[in-house]
Parts: sequence; C-alpha cells; structure tokens
Amino acid sequence: MDPKVSKADANLQKMLAEKRIKSVEDRRVGSEVFDQKTLETLYKLANSNYLNILNGAISTGKEANVFKGVHEDGHIVAVKIYRISTSDFKKMQYYIQGDPRFRVRTTNKRQLVHAWVNKEFRNLNRCLEAKMDVPNPIIAKNNVLLMEFIGDDEENPAPTLRDQGPQNPDKMLEELIESMRKMYQDAKLVHGDLSIYNILNNNEKPVIIDVSQSVVVDHPISMELLNRDIETLLKDFSKFGASASFEDVKKEITG
Ligand code: ATP
Ligand code: MN
Repeated sequence: MDPKVSKADANLQKMLAEKRIKSVEDRRVGSEVFDQKTLETLYKLANSNYLNILNGAISTGKEANVFKGVHEDGHIVAVKIYRISTSDFKKMQYYIQGDPRFRVRTTNKRQLVHAWVNKEFRNLNRCLEAKMDVPNPIIAKNNVLLMEFIGDDEENPAPTLRDQGPQNPDKMLEELIESMRKMYQDAKLVHGDLSIYNILNNNEKPVIIDVSQSVVVDHPISMELLNRDIETLLKDFSKFGASASFEDVKKEITG
C-alpha cells in the first residue's frame, strides 16, 4: 500500500479506536454520526493531514456533534459533524434560498447539508475578517467543519454563557454589541440564533459560535433575525443584571 494511504488508514483506525466515546448517549450518537459517508470524509481529512485523532465529544446538539480532535501539527481542533439524518432541511433551504452566495436549487438532503456547512465556514471567515472573536475556521468538507478549539491550556472547552455567566455583565454586553456591530457593518451578516447557548465564555471574553444560519444583510429575513437576536441578548443579559434599551442597541449595531 502507498505509505500515505496506509498512514491515513492507520490514522483512521487510530481515530476510531481513540474516539473514546464514553457515555451511553455518546455511543448511540456515535453510530449515528459515523455513517459510511462521514467516515470517508474523516478518512480524507486524515489523508490530507488535517486531522490525526478524533477524541471525545464536546457536545451533542440537535443537528450536529462537536468533537475534540488533534490536528496533524498537534493542535487541538474542534470538529463539528452534521448528522444528515436529523438535519432540518426546511430551515436550511429557507435560509440558503435568499442568500446570493448560494445557488443551490437542490432538494438532495446531503447536498443541502454540505452547502450548509460550507455556509458556516464562509460565515466564520467573514466574521474573522471583520475582526470578531470567533473560532478560526480551518476547513469545511462535506458535513464536517474543522475549526479552532476555544478552551483553556488544559484542553477544556470554554463553557457557554448558559453554563457560566459573565463576571462583569455590563462589560460583556458592551463587547457583544460591538461584535454584533462588526458583524452587521463589516461582515455584513446577521447571526440569526444569538443566545447564551451560542456564546462561549472564554475566560470572560465572549466568543460567538454557530454561524451556520447567519444570513447576509440583504437577505429578506435579516431585519427580523436581527431584532430577534437583540431581544434575546437583552433578555438573557437582564437576567445577568445588565440592561440596555432595544432602540439604542439597534442603532449602535446598524449605525
Ligand atoms: P446546530 O448548528 O445544529 O444548532 P449546535 O448548536 O449543536 O449545532 P454549535 O452551537 O456550533 O452546534 O456547537 C455546540 C457546542 O459545542 C457549543 O455549545 C460548544 O459547547 C461546543 N463548541 C462548538 N464549537 C466549539 C469550538 N470551536 N471550541 C470549543 N467548543 C465548541
Ligand atoms: Mn448552537
């Protein structure tokens, strides 16, 4: 066997062996996540030296699983794997249709999910260019997205704001509004699902994640989504003890 292929094969065996999927729930999901096509995608990522080891799950969401992985260079990465079987195609189609960057007319579920993952990757790049604090995207392939792992030196993932509220709510709210301003004015995107579940508390610095559904500001539903994001954020933060007026915040974001 070609040494590169055999190396990738060993890697994949190692990846699968070292999946270290511990809990019963994870095991159930494990078989669901790693369908044949997903295995092939992971194999390709290993073969092109993007991923060495796939470690335990960080999160098991509605549509995606996030794992901790080890990049070829030894860095920890976050590996987000969308499950084709539980994806919300209606939502995906609806959000993708109004986006001029995508001309997917497909009703093929797998292709839709691939476009969705590609959208998350491109959105992350735009956010990064706008100097927002988001995970650095590495590569999107099929239903798998590799990105920078947000966590501490001991490789613990940063908690969400849901799990760990801010020590200084006013300060963090201000930083988030500034992030939303950059997202709107520079990245020309609206998050669309902003809440304490999609903001990581990285040592008291907010990191916005989960931008797959984020839409371009020209999208017909962008204003509706922006209003909802602001409302949710202000409601969440009022529970933390920080408040701001909807109108002021909206003005700040849209300029
Ligand atoms: P969906 O797009 O289907 O709503 P989801 O909500 O499950 O997916 P995310 O919100 O992107 O997906 O990620 C789920 C969880 O995984 C997050 O709440 C966070 O705990 C963890 N996570 C995601 N990305 C990273 C990352 N780059 N670094 C560390 N942890 C992450
Ligand atoms: Mn999420």
